[in-house]
Amino acid sequence: QAKPRVFITRRIPEEGIKMIMEHCETEVSDFDGVLPREMLLEKVKNKEGILCLLTDTIDKEVMDAAGPKLKVISNYAVGFNNIDVEEATRRGIMVTNTPGVLTETTADLAWALIMSIARRIVEADKFVRAGKFRGWEPLLLLGTDVYGATLGIIGFGRIGQAMARRASGFNMKVIYYDLQRAPLQVEKELGASYRTLPELLSEADFVTIHVPLTPQTHHLIGEKELKMMKKGAYLINTARGPIVDEKALVRALQEKWIRGAALDVFENEPEVEPELLKLDNVVLAPHIGSATYATRTKMATMAAENLIKALQG
Ligand code: NAD
Repeated sequence: QAKPRVFITRRIPEEGIKMIMEHCETEVSDFDGVLPREMLLEKVKNKEGILCLLTDTIDKEVMDAAGPKLKVISNYAVGFNNIDVEEATRRGIMVTNTPGVLTETTADLAWALIMSIARRIVEADKFVRAGKFRGWEPLLLLGTDVYGATLGIIGFGRIGQAMARRASGFNMKVIYYDLQRAPLQVEKELGASYRTLPELLSEADFVTIHVPLTPQTHHLIGEKELKMMKKGAYLINTARGPIVDEKALVRALQEKWIRGAALDVFENEPEVEPELLKLDNVVLAPHIGSATYATRTKMATMAAENLIKALQG
């Protein structure tokens, strides 16, 4: 029996590619960067499986280009807002993702961003490199205490709850908002209390976003919400850029409605709102939430397993 034909849109850690090669006739893109649309449409032709990234838009057109043999779209990510899942389901194409394996790694990065923005680590680093350090100073680079502060978690799923566990070591008050209230036992275990979104925004010192990008969460945080936040509060986004209205955030930071923000994701990746680059009260990262050696390897083997299992039916 012929092996199923599979296309991998970009080189991922070798462990995953090897697994797929054992079971499938495998083509890995050798294009250096996000595959241009025309190439993607060409490469998926007659494939039974596609392993793609969150930078690949997999819509009706791509499914048409692949043809009727397409059985599975395996996303190398937990978020799958890049895929038209409804259309895939209509066609009987299975869509898979990599939940769980990147939870702690992404929460680690969100935590690093909280610490960086609160203690002005990036500004401090620039200061030292610029040769400005003249010895200890009483009023140099004053920041905000994380210990004992109130953490507001928007989206209390895997990553949101991992943030709550970290917060307990910092003696923080933890409040969360989610579509669904967590079971009482989980709230108790994590020391977290439910709030409505407006309540959370007006009470938290650090607001951290962990919802998926859906039509409902698009611009969940806009001008109105930013104005509800405390003047001394910070916004951290490691979920998806379009959840925050970036133009409104720029004004919030320029006009000091809030004290700062730290972002791993942007509204129009890879573009970054130029005004953000001019601000000191923001820390910026290039979508590296899951970027550790161990986690990217686990994501690769999980995405490979998902693909192979679906192809074997
Ligand atoms: P999850 O599904 O475990 O948790 C998401 C939570 O959001 C759920 O509890 C859900 O009920 C809640 N939710 C969904 N829609 C909502 C709405 N409209 N209002 C309020 N709450 C809502 O997902 P997870 O594994 O914790 O990941 C969360 C998101 O983080 C992913 O969807 C992904 O987009 C993003 N992510 C980013 C990176 C990165 O590299 N920066 C890495 C991993 C995940």
